[in-house]
Amino acid sequence: MAKVSIGMLGWRFDEENILDEDGEFLPLEEMPPNDRERIVRLGSIYNAPCNACWLIHGDGNIDDCNTAQYVYGEPLSEVLLCEAHEPDFVYWFREDGGSEYRGTEEFEDAFYEWFLDGNRAPDGYEGMEYVETDPDDLPKPPEVDSEEYSELEGDDVSDRVGLTDEEIAESGVDFGSEYPGGR
Ligand SMILES: [Zn+2]
Repeated sequence: MAKVSIGMLGWRFDEENILDEDGEFLPLEEMPPNDRERIVRLGSIYNAPCNACWLIHGDGNIDDCNTAQYVYGEPLSEVLLCEAHEPDFVYWFREDGGSEYRGTEEFEDAFYEWFLDGNRAPDGYEGMEYVETDPDDLPKPPEVDSEEYSELEGDDVSDRVGLTDEEIAESGVDFGSEYPGGR
């Protein structure tokens, strides 16, 4: 099955789970729950500032933040990164304890703490390698305008409703095969 990324590199989807044979998005209700959740979430985080840039510049200097082009983690505890900061995240995940937080709600905060403590990847450290090299060429996420999905438009982990434990467990398995440090 072909894998595709939508809008940002990082999260990947089985093409047939989210697109019809003409390459158009399937209706959201026809997507598997984990994919649907990520597609909806992508609609909210697409073109958002890089989280690492934001930790450096803050809301007061939001214009100095690069647009995020990579997304890792689970919806609502995801980490958004620009090209410059993606290697820092991958280094944290692979080499400096980040993988312990795989699939947990602390994932995002743990990376922030690490970054705020001044940790960075060594010079020249390569992030993930992608076949699709230019995130600007990826299809844009669909516009989602539905109250049904409003919980995915916020940014509070405690708003994580609509996910069963089973779905979280499943997404954890998926995470292992798709993310840095995956087995
Ligand atoms: Zn950045």
